[in-house]
Amino acid sequence: MKVIVIGAGIVGLLTACRLKQQGADVVVLEKGWMGQESSWAGAGILFPIHPWLYPDDYSALVHASLSLYPALQRELTSETGWDIQRIQNGLLIPCFEDDNTHHQQAALAWSEKFKWQVEQLNPSQALAIEPNLSSKLNQALRWPDVCQVRNPKLLKAVFAYLNKLGVEVVENSEVGSLCEDNTGSVTGVVTVHGKRFDSDAVLLAAGSWSHELAEQSGFSLPVRPVKGQIILLKTEPGTLKHIIKHDDAYFVPRQDGRILVGASMEDVGFERGNTVSILHQLLGATLKLVPGLEHAEIEQQWMGFRPGSPDGMPFLGPVAAKAGLWVATGHYRNGVALAPITANVMADWIMGHKPSLDMAAFSPERKLIESSLVGYPNL
Ligand SMILES: Cc1cc2nc3c(=O)[nH]c(=O)nc-3n(C[C@H](O)[C@H](O)[C@H](O)COP(=O)(O)OP(=O)(O)OC[C@H]3O[C@@H](n4cnc5c(N)ncnc54)[C@H](O)[C@@H]3O)c2cc1C
Repeated sequence: MKVIVIGAGIVGLLTACRLKQQGADVVVLEKGWMGQESSWAGAGILFPIHPWLYPDDYSALVHASLSLYPALQRELTSETGWDIQRIQNGLLIPCFEDDNTHHQQAALAWSEKFKWQVEQLNPSQALAIEPNLSSKLNQALRWPDVCQVRNPKLLKAVFAYLNKLGVEVVENSEVGSLCEDNTGSVTGVVTVHGKRFDSDAVLLAAGSWSHELAEQSGFSLPVRPVKGQIILLKTEPGTLKHIIKHDDAYFVPRQDGRILVGASMEDVGFERGNTVSILHQLLGATLKLVPGLEHAEIEQQWMGFRPGSPDGMPFLGPVAAKAGLWVATGHYRNGVALAPITANVMADWIMGHKPSLDMAAFSPERKLIESSLVGYPNL
């Protein structure tokens, strides 16, 4: 079975890896350099943002994915020597007087339903473990089991693994169109440089850019870029112990003391770069929520394009009208968390094995409810 994977983000790379392990002959085509877009830019939080706003099928998919991470981490370390820095430092949501208490109640109910341990802390308990937080909080919710991963290291590890497995990742090789035979089945791709690659299956994993190729091929895939800007602070290790999440901003402390402050949710197309107004907002939220970071050094800032879908859920599976074409995209805010299950399910499916999970809710042809098409939700 020959498979072409379009896109060398975490979704395409990890799926290529699983396909190869199942015996497929895989080539990954990447328009730029591997792992330089959303998968590199993300914060690496291994927990969905606001999971209580999603349907239960989504929470089940996330759980299945997160449960694969410990074994994936061991596999990558033993096969490549890379440490992906998956660490369990917990997630803490500080709650202030003017915050929406509906969210807090929904978070508690969701955690009970999906068996995530959660603690309610009073202000002195919260400040005892996170003294740099604002003392104006009136309570905090803490999920001790939440983990994070360091995205660039994860990508390098998977890339090294692909090299070891003998999978070719062809960079600077943008796919310009899909090839079809006279029955409408997809039989390969052609790059913008005119090079043709024939295959039995094509997996569209082109993140925010997936829409164009789908459209060209005559089916609708409403994925669009949702820009996120991030600021990197340089602090001493231990300045923050937990991932801190609030509606205004989140803070992800890395092992070496660096702290990511993220992230905007912007519907501005593919407009690159950091902007004064968003950096101002993120820094304002930092002073309000974690005033102990007032003197932290700003080391860097960047941005990325989340592959947004109208209901916040990925599109995973075959395209019924185009035999040979498969889709794995639209992971929006949670593609790093969802990569392990995406890779396993898609590799099984393409290789002819029915996925063990019910995937109907993620079908590329699912009916999107009218209201979810209005805007890309701040889920
Ligand atoms: C600021 C920010 C914070 C985030 N935080 C988190 C988080 O904490 N946790 C989490 O789980 N997720 C997070 N995400 C979301 C996550 O990063 C994405 O959902 C995930 O990376 C999507 O992976 P992907 O492989 O589909 O897309 P990408 O990483 O964007 O990869 C797609 C690849 O396809 C290539 N491509 C596009 N078109 C073509 C073509 N025609 N031919 C060949 N190649 C092509 C692109 O160049 C790109 O390399 C965040 C994202 C951002 C931007």
